[in-house]
Amino acid sequence: MDEIENLKEIILKEYPRLNKESKFKFSCHKGISCFNKCCSDVNIFLTPYDVIRLKTRLNISSQEFLDKYTFLPIDEKQNHPVVMLKMESDENKSCPFVGDNGCTVYEDRPWSCRMFPLGVASPKDAGKHGEGEFYFILQEPVCKGYEENKDWTVAKWISDQSIEEYTEMGELFKDISLHDYFKKGKQLEPAKQEMFYTVCFNIDKFREFVFESSFLKRFIVDEKIIGRIREDDKELLIFGFNWLRYCLFGEETMKVKK
Ligand code: SF4
Ligand code: SF4
Repeated sequence: MDEIENLKEIILKEYPRLNKESKFKFSCHKGISCFNKCCSDVNIFLTPYDVIRLKTRLNISSQEFLDKYTFLPIDEKQNHPVVMLKMESDENKSCPFVGDNGCTVYEDRPWSCRMFPLGVASPKDAGKHGEGEFYFILQEPVCKGYEENKDWTVAKWISDQSIEEYTEMGELFKDISLHDYFKKGKQLEPAKQEMFYTVCFNIDKFREFVFESSFLKRFIVDEKIIGRIREDDKELLIFGFNWLRYCLFGEETMKVKK
């Protein structure tokens, strides 16, 4: 994790800042000499929405997905649990989803794979250097895509890679993960860490919690919302973010029944 923190610092200090109109050249295709080389030994942090997309794609439960494909790096500086994609144990430490023809979960690949070769500095990190969010080009020596003659703007790349839905869900997640509560240096107690993990990454277990405990007897939840969150993981995650704001940070996002 220190390695990642160091890289963050270098990016913030040295990488050119891009905005949505900034231009760059890039192309990735099967004929390129580096094809698939970026899909091994890579650090991929999964967002809650990444987990939903991938477990749905693989037609398995969120628990099975977490057990089989992820690990939780432990770092005492972390405010809350984070989940990373577990590479295979082969010589190259390949991504479990890479195949001869590229990514086997392409339409549901994680946010960071969609964004590549772009990275984005969060307002929290960029703010340390007195700036808001910005984009930058990741400098991966293995990648030959930068030498291809195809023009992009940041905005065009984001649209082409269908990143908007991921960004929309990512913004809701940031309201939790970058909450003022953490800026004040407060730590979540273990039961709250567990709730954070369940809501954000184990959506099927969170559904059990909502529908198979006394939850709906204790809180006022509109019938239409109950109908939506029963079936729809994305709706349940949005509901879960509101629940976390209530139970972790004491915000008035839920109403208790009398
Ligand atoms: S999820 Fe797909 S694109 Fe991302 S590293 Fe794995 S194989 Fe590559
Ligand atoms: S290294 Fe770059 S160009 Fe090569 S497959 Fe990966 S993203 Fe595409």
